[in-house]
Amino acid sequence: MTKQGSSQAGNNLDPWYHHYAERAGGLRASEVRALFAVASRPEVVSLAGGMPYVAALPQDLVINAMESVMRKQGATAMQYGSGQGVPVLREQILEVMALEGIKAHADDVVVTTGSQHALELVSKLFLNPGDVVLSEGPSYVTALVIFRSYQADVEHVPMDDYGLIPEALREHIARLKAAGRNIKFLYTIPSFHNPAGVTLTWERRLEILEICRDNNILVLEDNPYGLLYFDRPAPDAMRSVERDGVVYLGTFSKTLAPGFRVGWALAPHAIREKLVLANEAAVLSPSSFTQLIISEYLSTADWKGQINTFRGVYHERKNAMIAALDEYLPELTWTNPNGGFYVWVTLPEQLDSKAMLPRAVKELVAYTPGTAFFSDGEGRQNMRLSFCYPTPENIRVGIRRLATVIRGELDL
Ligand code: PMP
Repeated sequence: MTKQGSSQAGNNLDPWYHHYAERAGGLRASEVRALFAVASRPEVVSLAGGMPYVAALPQDLVINAMESVMRKQGATAMQYGSGQGVPVLREQILEVMALEGIKAHADDVVVTTGSQHALELVSKLFLNPGDVVLSEGPSYVTALVIFRSYQADVEHVPMDDYGLIPEALREHIARLKAAGRNIKFLYTIPSFHNPAGVTLTWERRLEILEICRDNNILVLEDNPYGLLYFDRPAPDAMRSVERDGVVYLGTFSKTLAPGFRVGWALAPHAIREKLVLANEAAVLSPSSFTQLIISEYLSTADWKGQINTFRGVYHERKNAMIAALDEYLPELTWTNPNGGFYVWVTLPEQLDSKAMLPRAVKELVAYTPGTAFFSDGEGRQNMRLSFCYPTPENIRVGIRRLATVIRGELDL
């Protein structure tokens, strides 16, 4: 192993420092992790994390489903299951995806331990060191960690208020191809983007699919927030019009609860086989227990009504955040999402969101600095604010504190 790999992987106090594989170099704690530990104190308003507000899910719904599973099929729930996932749940997942225009066969659904694990498995199947992954800039931080851990280079493609810019995608592909680079896939979050909060238009979805098809690039469509819209639904999923070139990722983390750790991949038929083998190699089978509870919940509870409840909660919180930004920080610019969990803020040029964070935490408010969402050091002038977890009142308090910090930095 190279010196470079080992020096990135550990530190000199670690006796196994020289033993790590090079890929472990990509697994680094975020520079702001220590601050986030402080930010989890109750007096701090955290606009930093992306935790769903699970208190909006009546616990009885889960307790009833759990009890019923244990009484009716306890032995199965306690046992190993299929590496592809519980068949009846895979059928029900088709109903969830149908809400976003997807027609598919349950044979092509692979249940995973959250969609995070599907990202890991797809990366394991496709990425060699030095390969290129295209993604929006900014992009989901823990996907970037996975791509880096497989020693791939992430090439960010710019976006605007309508999502990824097709013309920029064309330019990036042409440049990378001319340089002889191997582009493996486009990782995209088309609806209610994390962290940018924007949604890709239908026209652009079609154009981007065409560009990827023409260039033989697989699309990895990550859609955890699509059903959490506010005023109007997002356009249908990209997978609804392209079956062979898209691996689609879904999850129950935001429409039910992340503690179950149940997500899925819908893959083209050929890829699906490899995904199941990779899933088996990693976990033997995803949890039978939580899959059966979700299946019971979907067949007995008003799950669509519950999604509406979540939408109402997040809509109210988003409105609270935008109103507070309007009132306390009118000199900044931000995205105004129509769904999901996040607002992406742009600061005046002279400010650096990472450098400012310790001061914010001292003022009892936390956010995620924009640099976390880029692999190339961009994003100093940006921050991600999450409205999913704090109450509307706390969001207001948090933004007021943030305004104090920003005014202080600007010497106003
Ligand atoms: N993708 C995106 C864009 C996310 O925001 C998240 C969770 N924050 C995930 C994937 C992973 O979600 P899970 O593993 O809980 O399904």
